[in-house]
Amino acid sequence: MQILDGQTTSQAIKDALKIQVAQLINEGKKVPHLAAVLVGNNGASETYVGAKVKACAEIGFKSTLIRLEDDISENKLLGVIEDLNNNPEVDGILVQLPLPKHISDENVINAISVAKDVDGFHPISIGRLVQGLPSFVPATPHGIMLLLEHYKINTKGMHAVVVGRSNIVGRPMSILLSSNTNPGNCTVTICHSHTRNLKEICLQGDIIVAALGKAEFVTADMVKEGAIIIDVGITPVVDASKKSGFALKGDVKFDEVAPKCSFITPVPKGVGPMTIAALMKNTFKACVENN
Ligand code: NDP
Repeated sequence: MQILDGQTTSQAIKDALKIQVAQLINEGKKVPHLAAVLVGNNGASETYVGAKVKACAEIGFKSTLIRLEDDISENKLLGVIEDLNNNPEVDGILVQLPLPKHISDENVINAISVAKDVDGFHPISIGRLVQGLPSFVPATPHGIMLLLEHYKINTKGMHAVVVGRSNIVGRPMSILLSSNTNPGNCTVTICHSHTRNLKEICLQGDIIVAALGKAEFVTADMVKEGAIIIDVGITPVVDASKKSGFALKGDVKFDEVAPKCSFITPVPKGVGPMTIAALMKNTFKACVENN
């Protein structure tokens, strides 16, 4: 069994980007600039946005964090996005989800300029992805593909089982794994909360991507020998032994599943850091393409 180390792989990608940023500066070109919009005081969102802003600083990107009150109206938020769309200084825009209930995620995502849609959630970005056209690829599935590529895992012909069909993880993941690319070229089964015989389906998976958000849901009896396990889940679970009072758990019961696998991502230090690395790559791409 080999650990797919998202932490060191992410660092390697960020180091390479750092060199590319230095080259842009040498050539007198614009440095990538990410604008992150955070609505309200959700603790997890604070952490995720903080990590993205920190990664920008590490690489040499500019970043702007726009904090908005959680009672901001949808119209005002759309106005903020419009300003960012029109600001030539800004290359990439991300709005941290989830948004407060009175604001439509869909309206907000649709308002982001496709050229600055570094999260890749806009319907046009997703449509282009489905058609195999160049597009911004949502950061988490993109990061997983980068991790498979880094470890030179040849997925051609494999049966990939993706558990979860969200627009930000499961569905784009299924599209990428089924694409005529390397990694890719898998036969994909996508599962959700209405799937029957989930255990039997998972047992057929050469690759399992667990993205359902249920701590330690995937157990050893659901995994065949030698499978590749990608654990996307992050669920805080009460743990008195931790200073914070909770531990972050993946969707896979790591201790019992790991011995059966060929490769597995840990939680933390697996998919999480790769998501950040992929977002940074998307921001660099936006800068180069828009200037
Ligand atoms: P969503 O809640 O949007 O989607 C969860 C999906 O899992 C849904 O499609 C749901 O089915 C399916 N599901 C739920 N329960 C079951 C079940 N018992 N059996 C089969 N399928 C089930 O979550 P996200 O996709 O946004 O996130 C998933 C997890 O990944 C979360 O823990 C999240 O925190 C984490 N995450 C981690 C990231 C990282 O960087 N590491 C980035 C993004 C997310 P249905 O559609 O029928 O409801």
